[in-house]
Amino acid sequence: MTPPLTVVWFRRDLRVADNPALAAACKRGGPVIALYIHDEQGFFAPGGAQKWFLHHALKSLEASLCAHNIKLVLRNGAETDVITKLARESGATAIYWNRRYVADDITTDRVIKASLKEAGVETGSFNAALIREPWEIETQSGGPYRVFTPFWKSLKILGPSRREIGAPNALPAISANQLKTDRLDDWRLLPSKPNWAKEFPEVWQPGESGASDSLTLFLSNAVNRYGEDRNRPAIRGTSRLSPHLALGTISPLQIWNFTQRAIAAQEIPEGEALKFLSEIAWREFAYHLLYHNPMMPTEPLRPAFKNFPWRDDRKAFVAWTRGETGVPIVDAGMRELWRTGWMHNRVRMIAASFLVKNLLLPWQWGERWFWDTLVDADPANNAANWQWVAGCGADAAPYFRIFNPVSQGEKFDPEGDYVRAFAPELAALPNKFIHAPWKAAALTSEGYPWPIVELDQTRKRALASYEATKLAVL
Ligand code: FAD
Repeated sequence: MTPPLTVVWFRRDLRVADNPALAAACKRGGPVIALYIHDEQGFFAPGGAQKWFLHHALKSLEASLCAHNIKLVLRNGAETDVITKLARESGATAIYWNRRYVADDITTDRVIKASLKEAGVETGSFNAALIREPWEIETQSGGPYRVFTPFWKSLKILGPSRREIGAPNALPAISANQLKTDRLDDWRLLPSKPNWAKEFPEVWQPGESGASDSLTLFLSNAVNRYGEDRNRPAIRGTSRLSPHLALGTISPLQIWNFTQRAIAAQEIPEGEALKFLSEIAWREFAYHLLYHNPMMPTEPLRPAFKNFPWRDDRKAFVAWTRGETGVPIVDAGMRELWRTGWMHNRVRMIAASFLVKNLLLPWQWGERWFWDTLVDADPANNAANWQWVAGCGADAAPYFRIFNPVSQGEKFDPEGDYVRAFAPELAALPNKFIHAPWKAAALTSEGYPWPIVELDQTRKRALASYEATKLAVL
């Protein structure tokens, strides 16, 4: 009798280690086929920068799976159609996957599950993306959390809901099956004309070994000063694990356990390491919010914001996207994003605050731009953070907190190294003027734009708009 074939449907979990769906499939004892579906449609189809990372992560996954005698089948199209067709073609008796939390994805998975069941195909879904499922953490009164600190307290007490699992043993080789696969290159995930990602390989090493190297590097050095250095964009003070977490080339549980082991062995300072784990918990919190508020990516969590008087100024938006606002720290951040597909967290907050408060443009515009340009674009993290900055989220920044990009720059980039790295037109300016070149008398910043808005005046305008809509009482 032929042993039963299992298909593992990979999504944002592009790894072989600590992959519960893959482990369960291998445990069934028969041959395993891996499937990845590329669907260009949909609000959360990978954006331009993430496609670059995805291409390389899939290449790396293919090689790892091949070493386990598992073939990776690539298919393009609508998920429901592809799965139904592949189930038929392969004769699989089971299809397994790891869970996802965007409302539309949950619906798709339910529909697919029901139709496979009807066709007599077993399904299995697992948690691979979170330390705890969003429904496993509740307030004392039984509902979801809306504030981070008690959520984090609760997560620390509960800890992970499952044990980490290693990569499965290699399966017995199966004769090359006849299942057709697309060619990855035909998906054109990499930019070509122009190749705007030419600097990405200097910054990123997509795939499981790249993720594990980043974690090891971070825990061997930067974690020691994480609390302080994480706010300094000019230095490598953070882990840069976000694109890996976004596409699942590492799991949060692997990060959690590795860090906890290093704490227990007294290899790293506990306080700094816990601060790092609390950021991993912010990611968990974002997923908790997304699961319990399915409209979070497009609609404000605070309903009063639905009528907020956002402006409709495309010209200002384009200047922001290009890093041509005339405000150095904002422009440096937007150009870092363009060149590397990533932006430092402190600068993301400043650039986002400038968009929604000084320019008074809708946070949804910023969310979409980040979605297309970040290698770490993540449905939960991106939306939760944009709502946080705009003041319309769950545990949001108070409406009256409007980052002053000049003082933020002076505080977190005091020597101007970050600005000089990404806005070379300003390189010759003395430190005194690097964050406010308009104050310099001599024309040492030739080619750099004059600010597109006046900071004080637009700050007042934002405050007035927030107050006028009576959001102050929310
Ligand atoms: P580290 O400081 O090393 O943190 C480790 C991990 O913790 C990160 O990889 C990330 O998964 C998580 N984390 C850190 N900060 C946050 C946070 N504020 N919220 C949620 N999780 C966090 N992060 C994304 O992963 N994808 C996004 O699309 C995204 N969009 C953002 C949009 C805005 C407007 C802002 C202000 C922040 C956004 N962030 C997003 C959060 C944060 O900026 C990045 O996670 C962080 O900069 C990634 O760098 P790192 O891996 O070196 O972080």
